Parts: sequence; structure tokens; C-alpha cells
Amino acid sequence: MLRWSIATVCMGGTLETKLSAAARAGFRAVEIFENDLTFFNGKPRQVRAMADDLGVEIVALQPMRDFEGMPEPMRTRNFDRAQRKFDLMEELGTKLLCICSNVAEDSLGEPERSAADLAELADQAARRGFRIGFEAMAWGRHVRDWQQAWDLVHRADRPNLGVVLDSFHIFARKNDIDPIRDLPGNRIALVQVADAPGIMMDPMSLSRHHRCFPGQGDWAITDYLEKVIATGYDGPLSLEIFNDQFRGAPAATIARDGIRSLQVCGEELDARRAARKEAPLRIGPALPPPSSIGGIEFIEFATSGAQSPSLVAELEGLGFRRVGRHRSKDVDLYRQNDINIVVNREQDGFAHSFYLVHGTSVCALAIRFADPQKALERAHAQGAPTYFGRIGPGEALIPAVAGVENSLIYFMRDDEDGRKTWDQDFLFETAAAQPGPLKRIDHLSNVVRRSEFLSWITFYKAVLGFTDEPQVELADPYGAFYSRVLRSNDGIVRIPLNIADGGSTSASRFIETFGGGGVQQIALSTDDLFSFVEQARAKGVRFLNIPDNYYDDLSARYDLAPELIERMRDLGILYDRSKTGEFFHIYTRMFDQRFFFEVLERRTYDLFGAANTPVRLAAQASEQDAALQDRASLEID
Ligand code: MG
Repeated sequence: MLRWSIATVCMGGTLETKLSAAARAGFRAVEIFENDLTFFNGKPRQVRAMADDLGVEIVALQPMRDFEGMPEPMRTRNFDRAQRKFDLMEELGTKLLCICSNVAEDSLGEPERSAADLAELADQAARRGFRIGFEAMAWGRHVRDWQQAWDLVHRADRPNLGVVLDSFHIFARKNDIDPIRDLPGNRIALVQVADAPGIMMDPMSLSRHHRCFPGQGDWAITDYLEKVIATGYDGPLSLEIFNDQFRGAPAATIARDGIRSLQVCGEELDARRAARKEAPLRIGPALPPPSSIGGIEFIEFATSGAQSPSLVAELEGLGFRRVGRHRSKDVDLYRQNDINIVVNREQDGFAHSFYLVHGTSVCALAIRFADPQKALERAHAQGAPTYFGRIGPGEALIPAVAGVENSLIYFMRDDEDGRKTWDQDFLFETAAAQPGPLKRIDHLSNVVRRSEFLSWITFYKAVLGFTDEPQVELADPYGAFYSRVLRSNDGIVRIPLNIADGGSTSASRFIETFGGGGVQQIALSTDDLFSFVEQARAKGVRFLNIPDNYYDDLSARYDLAPELIERMRDLGILYDRSKTGEFFHIYTRMFDQRFFFEVLERRTYDLFGAANTPVRLAAQASEQDAALQDRASLEID
């Protein structure tokens, strides 16, 4: 039966912790890494009993290294070693031993000899009722590609010997995956699943530090699984991820992310099958499908009485007007066209707690779902904690799930009933519709801790049904900056997730001043950026200083009219161009070193101006350095 499995090497902690985390997350099968047994303070049969109690099947013991094609006396020693592994398997109650291709310098690399060794081992295994799997490692001495591994298995020709397919090695070696479908399914011993970002790196370093769960990287994992399933293989599909960040995280979080990422794979597989009018595979329990998303209904700032005036001044400078006050709370609603910004100054409750930890910041966002109830059920089924806030009499109850750093993501109804929520909670003091130059929220950039980056990618994709774009790497003046954009299924809600390497990068400093991850950038769209900037500057909004050199470089790179470049230089506007169109954008100065607004004008351009991110990061770094110097000189005075 096709079933999801996870290798214990994916998780950190003791073997007991790993097994129970896997079981709690919903896995019914695990691969046991021998190291986990070595460090286990007990007998292998106790591991078996533990797994039985948890309802988890041990599908394989691995790895046995440097086995095939060794000269004597190592060859004899290897067969002795194998006998000890068989004894261990007996106690563990597992039937499959996985061997990965030899990396030893003195291995012979003669296919006949290697195949003969595998055949002999398979015969010995058969006498004890065991099976052997053979896997090509991308950095094997002689066997690196799955076809080579299959060649040896085929030559050895034993019914209890099969090939182990691991998407990591297959994609790292850029192997053709199409011929996988021609393998006999009963000769595939095990199927392992790992993804990785599409970055240039030697396979071993990529494997040890960047392997990730399906959907967290850039490889075509669903295509791979389709080929595998086309062979008739019906065994475990097992996550095998070596990743320092994973082992540093709680095992429960990793197991939960693992099952979430596989559930998305399962949905993709079944969606493709449905399109071909094939029966669904239904690997694992079914989830309610993602609900379609209509946009962001509001973002909410947590602030205090003291900080609120400068936030409000910034919002008014950007063209927002207060349209309503909350009926029972110290909360105001600012609006401009489709953009709603809630300013929360309450002295207790969720927003206040958030303010105490993070300062003035975005504590919540509300997403409009076609079916929020189903969306919530999906989130719940994937172990996302849900939240129902304290409300006054007659006020709307909006359910939420926890987002980055325990901010809230509200689930609102995307229809007239949903919009009536405002009237239920707010007293409008002016016309509810507010015109202005800013039209809608274009995107919200989240900075997240490096250790949580992959986890949040999986959250948005699995829980909210977002899709993602390839990872982008950029230079920060103090290190490196990585970004991956997540989009709701219709593309309306866009959330770039950013992380940084290097203690003084903008993202790292944000994490430090902010006390964790969160919304760093609120990007709002306009139809005429130039006149917007003129108006906003007149109202006292301060924008980021862009160095003159940027505009000199711009005139060298693009055939733009000199007057246009001068106008951009005067106003501090940045420019980018893609195959499809042009992009004008500008950044406000950091608010309290925490967040900033971007205002942008898209002219049939669908990207995010990443080419200008290094300029923005450098300008923000010098702004922050100046602020620090001011503070230091004040202290000396
Ligand atoms: Mg493997």
C-alpha cells in the first residue's frame, strides 16, 4: 500500500521523541537510521515495542555503507557486518536493509563483482526473510545515478533485491526521471523523497545542509512521484532529509511540516489524476480542499497611546483617513479605496501583548476566503492552532490561525456578509468609501527567522493553499538575503518570505529589534506614483534616500528619457523592467526601525523589483547606521 513515511534522521532529539513526534503528526511508517539506535539507551526490541505501541511500522533500517565491490579482506568483513545488521533487523521487526553505493577509495568498481556481492547478500537475507535495497548516492565512488544502481540490481537478479530511489540524488545528478516509469514496480525496494532549493552547489554540501521537504525547494517532486507510481510500486514514500535546521527544531514541528508537505504532494497527485479521469490515490487522510481567496481585507497594527500619533501621521501622509471607531475598544479603522488598516491601542488582549513584545507593528492580517469555515477546517486538520478573540456584545467573531511569531491570520468571509462585519464592530463617522491615490495592498513581506523559513513556506502552501516561486538570493551590504514569494491560488495575496545570513543584515537587525519575525514591508499600489510621491512629500512623509549613483547606473542600463530619470532622482523613485512591463516604486523611511511602506506602480509588470533590493538594503543600512550614530552621540553628550 502506498503510504507516507519519514526517516528518523529528519528530526532532532532522542529516538523516543522522534517516533512519538512522527506518530502524533500522522505518520504510520518510519525508516530507522542506525545512528539513532546507537545513541538509543535501550535494546532494539524496545524500539520495536515502542513503534508497535505508537502504531508505527519500521519500514527499513539504513544505511549500510561501503558494501559492494570491495577487495578482500574487506569483502568478508562486510558480509560479517551484514549478519549483525540482520540480527538487529530481527529485533527491530523490519524486513528491509538499505545499502547506499560505495564511496570507498579502494572499492573496485567492477559491475560484475558488485552485482555478485549484492546477489550473495540478497541470498543470505532471503534465508532470514529479509529484503535488500540498493541506492545510488550522488557522490558514490562508481555508482552515482539511479540507472547504474538499477543496472547492478538487474544483473544480480534476485527477487528480494530492489533499487532504492531517492529524489535527492536523482535531481542533484540531473538524472532523467522519465525512464523510472519503465522499472518493474516490484523491484523498487523503497522510494525516498527530498527536495532542495535550485542553487548551484556540490551535491554533498547540498545534501547535508539544504535538503528540505517537498514543496520547500524547487524540484519537480510531484513529477517524480508520478513516475514512481506509474511503475505499480505500492510501498512507503519516505521523507529522508538531512538538514541542520531541522535537527535544531523541535521534532514535533518537523514531523508536522513533513506530513503537511506530503499532504500537498498527495493533493497534487490526485488533482493530476482527476484531470486524466483516473481514480484518486488518497495516500493518507483527505483534507478539505483549500478555499479560494479574494484578497486581504485588513491589516492590523498593534500600538500604544504614545506611539499611535506618529503611526497615524504616517498613515495620513500616505492618504488614509479614519472612517470609523470600534464600538467597544480603543481601535480605529483607516481606509483608502480597498485598503483597510486597523490601529489597535487597547491596553490588554492580544494586540497589546503583541505590542509589548514587538513594539508598533502589524499584529494581524485578515484574508478573505470564499469558504472560511472550510479553510479553517483545513487549517485545523493540519494542526494549525486556531484562535477566537475576546469580543464585545453583538460584535463579529472572526476566527484566526497563528501566523509568523504568533501574529494572527483572520479568516473572513469574501462576500457582503463579510463586509457587514465592519458595521457590526465599527461606528462609521464619515463616508465608508474613501478615495485616494493608493488602491490596494500589493504584497506584505515577512521577515522570518532562518530556522523557521522552510516551516513558514510549508504553512502557507499546505494550510492556506498558496503556491510559491523559485528562491531569490540577493546581496545585503552586511551579508546575504534570500527571498521566496508565496501567492494565494488566484495570485491576489502575495507574501514574500525573507531571511538573511549575517548578523547586521537588514533582516537580521529587524529580527533583533522586532523581537522575532513579522511583517517588515507593506507594499501598496497606486496608478500614478509620481503624483502620489509629490503629494505625500508635501504632507511630510519621508522616503528613503536613494544614492545618486543609482540613477547614473539606471541611465546606463536603460534607454529612459533623461527627464524621466531626473524626475525619479528628484522624488527618490526606483525603476525596474521585465519582459512584460515596467515598474516604479518607492520606500518610506523605517518606522521605529521596524517596518516601512513601499508604494508601487505596476505597468503590466508582475515581479517585485528584486533588482533594486540591494539598493534598498544599502540605503536602509546607511539610514540605520546614521540613527545609531545619532543615538551614540546623544549618549556621549
Ligand atoms: Mg537516500
